[in-house]
Amino acid sequence: MALFEEIPSNDGRRRYVVKSPVTLERIGEFACATDEDVRAAVLRARKAQNEWAQRSFDERAEVLWRLVDQFVARQDDIADLVVKETGKPRNEAITMEVMAPCMQISHYAKHSARYLKTKRRRASGLMRFTKKVRLVYQPLGVVGLITPWNGPVALAANPLAQALMAGNAVIHKPSEVTPLSALLVEELTQAAGLPADLYQVLQGDGETGAALLEAGVDKVSFTGSVATGRKVGEACGRNLTPCTLELGGKDAMIVCADADLDRAADGAVRGSFFNTGHYCCGTERVYVPESIYEPFVERVVAQTRALKQTDAGEGDVGAVFWDKQMDIIEAHMTDAKARGAKVLVGGERNRSLSGYFFPPTVVVDVDHEMDLMREETFGPVIAIQKVKDEEEAIGLANDSDYGLSGNIWTRDLDRGAKLAERLSTGSVSINDIAVTYGIPEAPFGGVKASGVGQVNGEAGIRGYCHLHPIITDTAKKAQGGYPYTDESAERMKKAVKTLFGNRFLRKFIV
Ligand code: NAD
Repeated sequence: MALFEEIPSNDGRRRYVVKSPVTLERIGEFACATDEDVRAAVLRARKAQNEWAQRSFDERAEVLWRLVDQFVARQDDIADLVVKETGKPRNEAITMEVMAPCMQISHYAKHSARYLKTKRRRASGLMRFTKKVRLVYQPLGVVGLITPWNGPVALAANPLAQALMAGNAVIHKPSEVTPLSALLVEELTQAAGLPADLYQVLQGDGETGAALLEAGVDKVSFTGSVATGRKVGEACGRNLTPCTLELGGKDAMIVCADADLDRAADGAVRGSFFNTGHYCCGTERVYVPESIYEPFVERVVAQTRALKQTDAGEGDVGAVFWDKQMDIIEAHMTDAKARGAKVLVGGERNRSLSGYFFPPTVVVDVDHEMDLMREETFGPVIAIQKVKDEEEAIGLANDSDYGLSGNIWTRDLDRGAKLAERLSTGSVSINDIAVTYGIPEAPFGGVKASGVGQVNGEAGIRGYCHLHPIITDTAKKAQGGYPYTDESAERMKKAVKTLFGNRFLRKFIV
């Protein structure tokens, strides 16, 4: 049974029902915005943005602070809805969908004025005598925000806060798997007093997302799979729309021979099972040197066996949020088992619960011939490969089409940092699971197939702006220059020779 299913419609809009992955009961329905709806929303947003862009950072921040108040006051409503829509445990709903957005929105409310402060620059060369340069962070206009289902509130609130503080309007096309959470975010922004049309949620499927790309937005912020990211990148390239693409991952964990094994085992369990493994930077591959392999695996197995999986938002590992993801997890497990992998815990869909549940799973004897080690599984599976040493682990970690994040576990922090520099990934954690997305000071984004561009913090919010140089001429009179003559060309040649023919002078003037 599909968790969102198309139903008949009599107004020309594709219509879907949404079901809970826990109870499989209907929890809502939505109609997809048409191409005309999308274009009309962009026009309304543009109007609202013109006024918003005139507001000071303090005025914009005040609305965001009120939005944080809404998140605090409505945290139970947010958690209840996210649990209903995704089946994630209540603890994770509060951590990821309430706490993280509160931190993100507060960060940009507080720091955006500093990140986007107009700068004065001194021109170099001969220009220095007559030109003043001001660099202004100008909003881009209307941002098209397209988000996935694994963090339905957090992955909307974070880019939303940045885009708004930078002076933009946002049209948000949330995942068709989690449409209701986005509506709640919209409701919270309205209660916070965000001017009308500045943040509009347009429900829909992939076709609606594609329509948004063609509706004349000024920037696209996309988070989702590699396959869709390629389509989004193609459309943005054709339309010359700037975009960031935050895509999938296949993150590796490297356990060094000197690692604190209890801590590393805890990291593997959290890194692979958090959010049912539906975490773009989830730990999908674990490489362990043979000298510590047995004790490490023992610890991981013991910790995994202690985890509880129950329905209704309780327990430690929640539901698989979407039936299609269940198909992928099961296919990867079937392929791995057929190729010789050994399952130590879990391994098959948990049919003791009526919803979509896959148990926390530990698999060993895996290799890079298996989909489980090459393709994004996005489920609660720890796949552990024995290696000779850390050198082999680095080679295998980098043997991937993906490059989102990764983590290294060692007591020797200097060596850990040196190994980290050799990972071809957007970021690396040492002695921690991937936490980059939660630290605005660290730009977040993948390399290779994991994405294009970086988001968050100073660099991220500046991506919602055009850095607009305004150059003022301070000369007292017109510069003239016409008519050109042989003499004027000679004068310029002489100036070139004087200024740049001299090795000291040319360094001094630029
Ligand atoms: P998806 O690519 O299927 O869908 C993402 C969004 O794109 C949805 O809103 C969908 O409706 C929309 N969409 C689909 N086709 C489209 C098209 N042709 N044009 C425009 N929009 C279209 O991804 P998903 O299954 O919802 O999410 C899971 C994926 O997201 C995983 O690969 C995960 O790793 C990735 N992800 C990445 C990050 C990151 O920051 N790098 C964060 C979270 C999730």
